[in-house]
Amino acid sequence: MSSSSLAPSTLPSDALLTAQFPSISILVSPFTNRGIYATKHIRKGDVVFTDSPAFFRQELANRRDCIVCASCAKFIGQLSFMGDVLCRRRTREGALQRELKPGAPPPPPPPGVPCQAACGEWYCSETCRDAHWKQGGHCLLCVGACKDESHALAQFKMHAVGTCHDELLAAEAMATMVARVAFDGTPFGAVLGVLAPFATAPYHAIVGAGDPAATADALSRNQEGFALLRQGLAERLAAFAPNADAAEMALKTVASYEVFSGLLGIFELNNLAVDCESPVDRLMFALENQLADDATVLSERLGVDAEADRKALVKHLVLMANEAQAARIQDAEGDAVTAAEAVAPGRRFPGLEGTALFALGSCMNHSCSPNVESRYDDIESPATVTVFATRDIAAGEEICHAYIEEEADVRVRRSSLRHYGFTCMCPRCVAESA
Ligand SMILES: [Zn+2]
Ligand SMILES: [Zn+2]
Ligand SMILES: [Zn+2]
Repeated sequence: MSSSSLAPSTLPSDALLTAQFPSISILVSPFTNRGIYATKHIRKGDVVFTDSPAFFRQELANRRDCIVCASCAKFIGQLSFMGDVLCRRRTREGALQRELKPGAPPPPPPPGVPCQAACGEWYCSETCRDAHWKQGGHCLLCVGACKDESHALAQFKMHAVGTCHDELLAAEAMATMVARVAFDGTPFGAVLGVLAPFATAPYHAIVGAGDPAATADALSRNQEGFALLRQGLAERLAAFAPNADAAEMALKTVASYEVFSGLLGIFELNNLAVDCESPVDRLMFALENQLADDATVLSERLGVDAEADRKALVKHLVLMANEAQAARIQDAEGDAVTAAEAVAPGRRFPGLEGTALFALGSCMNHSCSPNVESRYDDIESPATVTVFATRDIAAGEEICHAYIEEEADVRVRRSSLRHYGFTCMCPRCVAESA
């Protein structure tokens, strides 16, 4: 997961795919797009496949509410820590914001492992931290050691935050690839080959959507961002690469604008939104709805005793939800409406939100009457997607999800899909446009 786990081949081989997910296969035909097809009857509600992301990035606005491992996306800590973060008693940097009462015991040290350069990233373990630092290329991007905001990497980050958040994801992907060439001596062809399965187009052409001024504008913005990134990468490589030749090879082959723009295009066309409910919310739901098994698993994970006094625990969670809501209103400068938007409807605590690129998931084509949906409900791996059937699927049928809102009428749907470079000819669109 995250940048560190982008393996040389991100798509499972046919044999592996069959062993893992026996009811699907990937079909490539010269007459259609690559797609995923059912090889046997799949019943409504069945899991069709699961996929862990090749890349994952948490939404910037979500970083205050949820602290997850920057390498494997696991939720860090137990109920007390999560509560402290949700209620803004503790910041991402680990500091306690609220003053302690005189004589109160010092708070326990935060769980998890911070980035060694204290950039604000957290890890579930030293293993994740070390893997992300070197193989994941974090040492090439980390801004913790930057002396001030004039450093190229700090400038790049501000540029990306201000103009195009996907530049951050593209930078992580690029840093991972640069690290593999510079640190491990992996041939650059193998490194770039990882990207081959994904559909792409130059990013500025996608977002420009045929408008020359918008296209030129996007191009110059991304080139500006890339120039800063490349300068930062070159500086870091000088410090971390085993020798100057390795650094130069990585810069010349992988750190080009074409690769950067191609990565942005891949993310633009293939990303899925990750949305995993907070474990705290799930515990509360399980307790309120007498789901004993769920409550046991969740309370164990969150380090609380649900058996001892269920009522007291529910009360504690209700108070926490109120305090977290008040903290968000304060964040939103008193605007309760904006604060409420930070939490999905039907939830009391914000969950994990981000965008991810899935190798297998990106093989799914679009339909306006899809037969599957995605969910993110694996607490130990919240960015892993589970794709399940929303109706019975016959053997031979294509597995399709909706890239866009399905409710809109055919004109709106087709215009939204132009972004992906095709005119939808799904049965529903054909029928509705006749
Ligand atoms: Zn981890
Ligand atoms: Zn760092
Ligand atoms: Zn359609």
